[in-house]
Amino acid sequence: MADRDGLIWMDGEMVPWRDARVHVLTHTLHYGMGVFEGVRAYHTDKGPAIFRLQDHTDRLFQSAHILGMKIPFDKDTINQAQVAAVRDNNLDSAYLRPMCFYGSEGMGLRADNLRVHGMVAAWEWGAYLGEEAMEKGIRIRVSSFTRHHVNITMCRAKANGNYINSMLALQEALDNGYDEALLLDAQGFVMEGSGENIFIVRDGVLYTPDLTSALDGITRRTIIQLAAEADIKVVEKRITRDEVYIADEAFFTGSAAEVTPIREVDNRSIGSGSRGPVTEHLQKKYFDVVHGRSPVHHGWLTYVSGD
Ligand code: PMP
Repeated sequence: MADRDGLIWMDGEMVPWRDARVHVLTHTLHYGMGVFEGVRAYHTDKGPAIFRLQDHTDRLFQSAHILGMKIPFDKDTINQAQVAAVRDNNLDSAYLRPMCFYGSEGMGLRADNLRVHGMVAAWEWGAYLGEEAMEKGIRIRVSSFTRHHVNITMCRAKANGNYINSMLALQEALDNGYDEALLLDAQGFVMEGSGENIFIVRDGVLYTPDLTSALDGITRRTIIQLAAEADIKVVEKRITRDEVYIADEAFFTGSAAEVTPIREVDNRSIGSGSRGPVTEHLQKKYFDVVHGRSPVHHGWLTYVSGD
């Protein structure tokens, strides 16, 4: 990743990709106290557009607020940095990674002289779980790792350190031949994937876990709205593992994962064992929206060309 052409926004200016470096004593590198976002820009008829940019930036600032980190840039600057990262790298579609992190001014946990840095990188990234997965669905397993308890770390923050838990769960799933992990909360209720929210469908109703130890996903919010617009009832509630087993359909949502059908959980096929009709409908709607083919949702798109 580090050795490529292009530009990265760093602390207020565009720098050559290979020069966007930090010191080994970077505080966040040691302790994981930092905040980030995962955002996508999509090809549209009017050039690339960033999906729900303001919502992602708002969440970045909320994450920082939760951690007590003061971002030394305003939201507009972070928005413009993301637009510039797509535009100046000539990308037609992109994954964007804004992050704020502490510098190397001190090393102790109580260091109080740390500078907060900001960066935004953008690069081309296809379907996170593979093109085939979008149609056929993925196989997942319930993780032996529990999702963070609400008072161990705070999942409303998209904090760097939270992802140790995600990576342990994902590595375990991949090592055992599955595509993704499904994490349960400390009480044993279904929570989320390593980087996705989960939905299940039963008798035409959409269910998703309420937000305790799960991230308040922007794709989740989008799907809840698109479902409401399609007169599909949505219920946020505690979900048990066996409810997922007997669901008619299940799917993951995320900026990276988009809307990915789940065809199997713990070796039990879900519904017909392939992408179900509700999933397909919402997935199609989602792609229409992000690609600018849904006029009523144009407000969610920030066109990089400025139109
Ligand atoms: N949960 C976790 C743990 C995530 O990392 C993500 C990806 N940001 C999501 C859910 C989905 O969130 P979003 O739809 O905002 O990308």
